[in-house]
Amino acid sequence: MIIVMSSQAQEAQVDGVVRRLEEFGLGAHISGGAERTVIGVIGVGFPQELPELMEMLPGVDHVTRITKSYKLASREFRPTDTVIQVGAVRIGGDELVVMAGPCSVESREQVLATAKAVKAAGASILRGGAFKPRTSPYSFQGLGQDGLELLAEASEQTGLPIITEVLEPGDVDLVARYADVLQIGARNMQNFPLLKEVGRIEKPVMLKRGLAGTIDEWLHAAEYIMSSGNFQVMLCERGIRTFETAVRNTLDLSAVPVIRRLSHLPIIADPSHGTGKWYLVRPMALAAMAVGAHGLLVEVHPSPDHALSDGPQSLNLENFAELMDRLRSLAEPLQRVVAGPARQTVVA
Ligand code: PEP
Ligand code: MN
Repeated sequence: MIIVMSSQAQEAQVDGVVRRLEEFGLGAHISGGAERTVIGVIGVGFPQELPELMEMLPGVDHVTRITKSYKLASREFRPTDTVIQVGAVRIGGDELVVMAGPCSVESREQVLATAKAVKAAGASILRGGAFKPRTSPYSFQGLGQDGLELLAEASEQTGLPIITEVLEPGDVDLVARYADVLQIGARNMQNFPLLKEVGRIEKPVMLKRGLAGTIDEWLHAAEYIMSSGNFQVMLCERGIRTFETAVRNTLDLSAVPVIRRLSHLPIIADPSHGTGKWYLVRPMALAAMAVGAHGLLVEVHPSPDHALSDGPQSLNLENFAELMDRLRSLAEPLQRVVAGPARQTVVA
């Protein structure tokens, strides 16, 4: 249910509505739009007559029920875009936020070199997997906590916040001690115990779309996190499984404007997993910005042919810097802005 205040409603009247909801044991989520304030009601089992009761309160224009079954994630619940603050970076606003780094944290040298290079090229957030979900149990599984330590060191040296994946509910607190954003991987989109666990913490979560996840299932997965208490959720389109074999996955760029229509949550595009080929990353990254993605997740490796995971889809340092330049030039005609400073020369 949402309560739409009249355009002349006073702050005290908004407070009055919130207090009345609290008396019913319900919470309120306030969206202050340019025109009017909308209050989303949080909680279950409210009395049948609640809409009529709320409509009688001063300053209330009308009350409507949310039609979508993913309520908190829906744009009906919150008409204005959610903006998530990660350190100095704002995700979900006008600026395109680039998160870049290796698929896996492999060594101190590798992660530090990548972090410094992506920072110099103008990335805003460092990515890197310490716990890796690999198709084969014989493939490199990640460095675990040692990898988290290396990410922390890279973050300290560059000032870049970190995004890294958490694979298991039991690791959420550990990963949250290091990460600025916790990533839920595609294979875990419907791991409900994990979603509920990251719903308990107070750190932003990036929820990747499952390999065969519909947009509806994906938004319901976001709802699991939000209904557990964590509203700092962003979504990531990373390609879906189709009949096409020329690419590793089919990056569904139409999902970006669809999500923006259905939800207020920020939407990120991952052209690395979305294509599986380094030479497709640039065109699809540019396209993702053009269709309205709030951010990009890009895999970068100092030597992609030696990478322990996802080398074929990783950009080398020079290609990443070039991608950032291209994004900045295309941003202008699209009336977008790429977050962070333009490329600096790296001082050895
Ligand atoms: C990753 O980001 O390295 C990753 C494993 O992604 P996904 O879950 O999309 O496969
Ligand atoms: Mn990867």
